[in-house]
Amino acid sequence: MRKLFLFFFSFLLSFSLLAQNTPVRVLVIGAHPDDCDEGAGGLAALYAKAGCAVKFVSMTNGDKGHQSISGGVLASRRMEEAREAGRRLGIVYEVLDNHDGELMPTLENRFTVIRLIREWKADIVITHRTNDYHPDHRYTGILVQDAAYMVTVPNILSGTPALHDNPVFLYMSDHFQRPNPFRPDIVVDITPVLEKKFRALDAHVSQVYEWLPWIGHYEKDVPADPARRFNWLMKHYAPYYAVSETHKPVLEKWYGRDRLPAVKYTEAFEICEYGAQPDEQQIRRLFPMFLPAGKVINR
Ligand SMILES: [Zn+2]
Repeated sequence: MRKLFLFFFSFLLSFSLLAQNTPVRVLVIGAHPDDCDEGAGGLAALYAKAGCAVKFVSMTNGDKGHQSISGGVLASRRMEEAREAGRRLGIVYEVLDNHDGELMPTLENRFTVIRLIREWKADIVITHRTNDYHPDHRYTGILVQDAAYMVTVPNILSGTPALHDNPVFLYMSDHFQRPNPFRPDIVVDITPVLEKKFRALDAHVSQVYEWLPWIGHYEKDVPADPARRFNWLMKHYAPYYAVSETHKPVLEKWYGRDRLPAVKYTEAFEICEYGAQPDEQQIRRLFPMFLPAGKVINR
């Protein structure tokens, strides 16, 4: 009898631990097909590896981002590139059919963002800051901010059930200073998945090997051979993710001092003051990569 009791007790205990550690659900909303990969591709790879559910959404179809093709031809090419990037990261990638360069913070687009967040049952939503240089980035940030409270209001879009718990909203990093610079509240070590992040960026051929080099006047630097151009891509862009002095104290907070020497590349995020305001324990539950292997944090 005692053995039976112990069996049921251990069964219930393991069940409740599983329930407390349900996989985190992450939604990244960028303006263009490749923005999510740039800002959060490493984080997405880490979550996917941990069995969490990650979705990237591009608010526009990217049909302006090229020097020689445009319209539907470019939009369908970029849709395929995004799908391939999603496949490489092990995540879902959705591209909305809004024109590139023309995104506006309309009520219709706000409703779309509310539906996306609710349907994904997101614990974390990541987007652009609203002082970014590109109007599509800014308005994507505005649309997500405008949805941040509304996702919990049942009478808004009552056909899509409101979320009981407000997600945590985060901003991807940028270098813009006015009216306020980016603040790295959360810094994630992406060193183990750097190549995977770049494999995702490599899928956006029309961007990383064609459009961005053309608009940046370095198209002559891009090798034609696929293996050589991937090496060039890593060499050219990896320094943007190199660990910085401002990230080190934050890394130490989340990972501990012992981990610091091994951290070479990072992605950083700022906590938005709308949505849920997580305490330290909640952040550790939402970011299982901060924990040493085998540790469990309960809700
Ligand atoms: Zn963009």
